[in-house]
Formats: sequence, structure tokens, C-alpha cells
Amino acid sequence: MNPIALGDFTIRKFVESTGNMGIPAAAFCGLGGDRLKALGAALDPRCGELASETFYLSMHSFVLEAGGRRILIDTCNGNNKHRTGVMASMNMLNHDYLGNLARLGLKPEDIDVVVCTHLHSDHVGWNTRLENGVWVPTFPNARYLMSDLDVQFYGALQPDHPQYALTREPFDDSVLPVLASGQAELVRTGHVLEHEIGREVWLEGCPGHTPGTMVVHAQAGDDHVIFSGDVFHHPAQIQDPTLNLGVDTDPEAALAVRRQFVETYADTGTVLLAAHFPDPTSGCVVTGGSGPTFRFLDKPE
Ligand SMILES: [Zn+2]
Repeated sequence: MNPIALGDFTIRKFVESTGNMGIPAAAFCGLGGDRLKALGAALDPRCGELASETFYLSMHSFVLEAGGRRILIDTCNGNNKHRTGVMASMNMLNHDYLGNLARLGLKPEDIDVVVCTHLHSDHVGWNTRLENGVWVPTFPNARYLMSDLDVQFYGALQPDHPQYALTREPFDDSVLPVLASGQAELVRTGHVLEHEIGREVWLEGCPGHTPGTMVVHAQAGDDHVIFSGDVFHHPAQIQDPTLNLGVDTDPEAALAVRRQFVETYADTGTVLLAAHFPDPTSGCVVTGGSGPTFRFLDKPE
């Protein structure tokens, strides 16, 4: 993804891992057959080969630099983390995530704010890293913004809950240490991060995927970018918002959010930066003869 300049803001992406993560089409609510072919035909080939049930996805973070502050949005899966159940493929990873951050010229100490759009394991992992056998905050100077609703919900999950493996293990190793450090700031909706610098960055609550799912807006003049977290997992969901990955805590609410995003932002030039859209990631919702679709900002190489 090419860096995005937005007034005095800059936005860059760095990757933990990317490619075909083996998520079957069946995970998208049994999607298959002709419907899959029709969706794939209208989709940029950089999103995957839907006819062969290949969905390209990505695990990445964004750095928004605004008024001298560096805001890191979502922290992927993390290294050395014990994961089971639906997240077993992310067990004990060893990625050069911090090396990729360094290649942007940034050290963990340089991050001022971390935003976790929600508390699933692939959005909180690098909140912490292992130091002498103890999980410590990776970003020592940052305040970490998390939803109070997600903290309440996932902090109370019991082992028999279907989302336990997705969220409770990471809660223990990636959320609790941040709460204990005093660096967490629990927020709900409409929280203004950087109002004082005149070009706003704010959070909006979009419950459905999780109780406290938030998106991050950045606006400079007429330019508007939304870090949409997991409102959409794959661009095919913009063509067909009824698709979901089966991990929404409130599927009806999540569907309503997806529909509202497509209706509100289609053909407005608003840039969507989703947490898992494959490279080049950034793009807009556009409508055409066959309905809404996602168009990448960056041209194919
Ligand atoms: Zn995710």
C-alpha cells in the first residue's frame, strides 16, 4: 500500500503476514457455487480467486501520524503466543513485526497511542511481548485505547463459550498486562483523540462483530479515511454484506453495520482501511452496473 497523505496526516501500513490464509469459502456462511463465481468475476483479482475458493487476506497494522503523534491501529497476532481452537494457526508465531515497524523508521518507544478496534486475538497480539518470561506492553510510551464493553465482555468469558479461544487466551496475555500497567484507557463511542490539533481523529462505536467494536475516522478538509477494523474481513463482503465469517457476537447488528457502511460511503471518495484486506488494502466503495464493489486506490504493478 502506498502511503496516504491526508492534510498534515500520513498513513502507512506494515505487515505481520499476508497471503492465502486457508480460510475456506464455506467459512463465509456456506458461500459457494454460482454465487461465488459471480462475486469473483466482479472483484479485483488481487482479492483472491474466489472460483477456486481462495480468499487473500492480510494481518497488518496502520500508523497514522498526526500533529507529531503516532497512532498505531490494531496490533495483529503477536509472537510466542499460545493459541488454540479457531486461532490455532496463529499459535507460537515468530514474525518480524517490529522489524517491519523499524523499516518505517519507527521504534516501539515512538508510538504515542495504540487503538485496538476490538479485542479479538488478531487485533491485540503485539500489545505485549515476552520479556524475561513476563508479558509486558510492547509500546512503553503509548496509551492503549480499548472498548470498555469489550473489556467487560471478554474479561468475563468462561471456557465453554464458543469465543473463548478467540478472545480469552489473548485477553490474559495481551490485554490484562496492559490494564495492569496503567497504560489502558477504556473508551466507548465518539471519543475524540486529537481534537485539539484541528484535524480530527475520532472513534465511532459499531457494535456487532464484538460488543465494543470501534472504527477510527481521520478527516482533513474533504478527505476522509476510516480504519474499519473487522467491519469487513474481505472485499467480497462489500459486494454482498450478508456474507460473514461466523465470528460476530451479534450477526444482525454486524450485518446492519456492513450495509450502513456500503450505503453511507459508496461513491463518496471515503477511503476504507480494513484490518485484513489484502495488499494494496486501501480503497473505496464504488457502485456500477452490478452494484457496490471495492476499488483499490493503488493500480496493479
Ligand atoms: Zn480480525
